[in-house]
Amino acid sequence: MNCSCAHRWAFRAWGGALEERADDLTPAAGHEVTVRVTHCGMCHSDLHVQAGGFDMGGGTQSSLERSGVRLPVTMGHEIAGEVVELGPDARGMALGDMVVVYPWIGCGACPVCERGDDHVCPRASRSLGIQLPGGYADLVRVPHARYLVPIGALDPARAATFACAGITAFSAIRKLNPPTAEDWVAIIGCGGVGMTAVALCSATTKARIVAIDPDPTKREAALRHGAALAFDPGAPDALKTIVKACGGNIAGVIDFVGAESSSSMAVNLVRRTGQVVIVGLFGGQFRMPLPLFALKSLQISGSYVGSLNDLRELVALAQGTMLPQIPLTLRPLAQVNQALSDLAQGRVVGRVVLQP
Ligand SMILES: [Zn+2]
Ligand SMILES: [Zn+2]
Repeated sequence: MNCSCAHRWAFRAWGGALEERADDLTPAAGHEVTVRVTHCGMCHSDLHVQAGGFDMGGGTQSSLERSGVRLPVTMGHEIAGEVVELGPDARGMALGDMVVVYPWIGCGACPVCERGDDHVCPRASRSLGIQLPGGYADLVRVPHARYLVPIGALDPARAATFACAGITAFSAIRKLNPPTAEDWVAIIGCGGVGMTAVALCSATTKARIVAIDPDPTKREAALRHGAALAFDPGAPDALKTIVKACGGNIAGVIDFVGAESSSSMAVNLVRRTGQVVIVGLFGGQFRMPLPLFALKSLQISGSYVGSLNDLRELVALAQGTMLPQIPLTLRPLAQVNQALSDLAQGRVVGRVVLQP
């Protein structure tokens, strides 16, 4: 196939609306592959990308522009679709294969990338949907066939969400020491990624799960997808109530919000020798009394998306097991601006998946 043109929804100014544009697409060279996008999930981090940065706390903002991201930006990093063009050196894929695309691309050449940890490459970030044009488009150009994971008969709408929500949840859960059936794991924030974590944690560990979210609809959904208990963090005495309900035995807390209030709740919820994993990028600064590190023997870590191997393993897991399924809402790509606004206003339960 000769792909001459990609129709992309991009923003031309930070914070601006997305507009459709037609960009020339040169023939795939070397190891490159072109994928016809059938589904692209919408992620909360798109709102930060569109805004141009993250709140780093203390009145400072990170800037994608200063870190080298160039306008226009075509977002969309949860991409599933069909292989429609292979560069002359692309191996292991055939035209017509249905794939999910790993978007967290690094330099591709350093030892970190070679072991499949492109997402934490120390040299370069070339993520699809940030530095490179992403999946809010009919066609997406992937730099190397190794970033494609065949999905076989899996529903492409669901497989698309594995590329960010899925592996972000999967990778964060795997940072916890394997919980026993007596242990509780708290999931703070039950948006698309948090809800995926509730479902995956219940499917892959023995732990009992407590879900924490201010939105009653999201708490109900969490209870249907594997949580044993759910609480509103804004209720009076929420912290005490949750610790008591879990018998003081919360072994791990995964914070999918990443705000000052949620991270502070996380370190207070977790029991001695517990683990806190911070994933969310809401922003602000982390504060904790220093003696707590020692007195509680805490482990606090961060987790950023997931590796290429996480994506391969998650696809294999979904092919072999019936994973609990988070709610998906399919919408036409042409509604992308409205869908982003709904997401910004907290009106999305589960995940929106756009279709070109
Ligand atoms: Zn994402
Ligand atoms: Zn690298």
